Amino acid sequence: MNVLVINTGSSSLKYQLFDMDKQKVLAGGVVERIGEDQGLLTHKTVSSGKEQKTKISRPIPSHQEAMHLMAEQITQKIDAIGHRVVQGGEAFKEATRINGAVKAAIQANNPLAPLHNPPNLIGIRLAEDLFPGKPQVAVFDTNFHQTLPQKAYLYGLPYEYYRDYKIRKYGFHGTSHKYVANKTCELMGKTPEQVNLITLHLGNGCSICAIKQGKCQDTSMGMTPLAGVMMGTRSGDLDPAIFGYLMDHTGMTQKKLGEILNKKSGLRGICGLNDLRDIHEQAARGDDRARLAVDMFAYQIKKFIGAYAAVLGHVDGLVFTAGIGENDEIVRAKALAELSFFGIEIDPEKNKARSSAPRTIHGPDSKIQIWVVPTNEELQIATETCQVLKHSA
Ligand code: AMP
Repeated sequence: MNVLVINTGSSSLKYQLFDMDKQKVLAGGVVERIGEDQGLLTHKTVSSGKEQKTKISRPIPSHQEAMHLMAEQITQKIDAIGHRVVQGGEAFKEATRINGAVKAAIQANNPLAPLHNPPNLIGIRLAEDLFPGKPQVAVFDTNFHQTLPQKAYLYGLPYEYYRDYKIRKYGFHGTSHKYVANKTCELMGKTPEQVNLITLHLGNGCSICAIKQGKCQDTSMGMTPLAGVMMGTRSGDLDPAIFGYLMDHTGMTQKKLGEILNKKSGLRGICGLNDLRDIHEQAARGDDRARLAVDMFAYQIKKFIGAYAAVLGHVDGLVFTAGIGENDEIVRAKALAELSFFGIEIDPEKNKARSSAPRTIHGPDSKIQIWVVPTNEELQIATETCQVLKHSA
């Protein structure tokens, strides 16, 4: 079965076509800058092991144009479509075949993810028009966290805010956490039910999960992806009184404050840069703020590891993934420094070695295994799409 995975953002469309029988990528690409003066499509086809790249630069005024452009590039057959949908709320505990009721439920969750769900829904509707009769499945970022117990997902607010407005922790990056957790279990030679893991998705957005015997028990992101550890440009957790204080003292509007917390905070807020590669260079040139930003980031990660070890009681493995988790040995080393009392001992040489393959980076005396496992959210979405269609056949 060939599954096309679609991830529609507000100004981009990412896609990948998998042959699930042979477990390989047939084609993939991205349409960027939709709605801007000049759009760009980058398409790659893999045939007989050879990669062919196409680039088209021209105005792409709408998602509809983007979707048509994508479809023109794909020459292989498409049997089914899997969509990434960010916010499934409490309505969706697992990946779901799309029908009218599912679309309505996704729309009902728009207020909880106003930047993400509306474009996701646009992608679904356009794909239905473009590929009539092909089954479509929604895979939600929030699915994996639906096993959180109530004591973990509720905030210390009047209960009626949860009841009336659904204010609670949902968690995000669930598809990535699920993929790397399953992959790590496979590499350990265990089933998910046999191990407890702390998975660390550290990229532009960062989230950390405590997973007990295959089930997510807690996660660092919250009702929105702004919570948890500080990120490239997002603040992470704050004292909630800061919002009112800042608005009172600066006259800032709520909209402006939201923009600062999402786009001008985190690593960028501290040192002016958000890409860790640039920050390390700046730090190497002696910039104290760049050093401080890295120290704060690693410190916050370390605190979550400690907290989630306490949540789990027993930890078999830590799993680093995404751009920073997979590539940044400095952050990994700092976050895991001086944790030997916890049974965590990183091997400095293994940690420094560059590779795109899954690998361990713990020392011989570490009681907890430390893994670096590249994530593959698209493959996870394709896999879950196949599973849903098998069960609904
Ligand atoms: P992602 O959102 O997973 O694509 O991750 C993006 C972030 O990963 C970038 O902002 C960088 O800070 C970081 N990153 C990506 N590649 C590397 C690398 N080779 N070394 C260090 N950091 C990296």
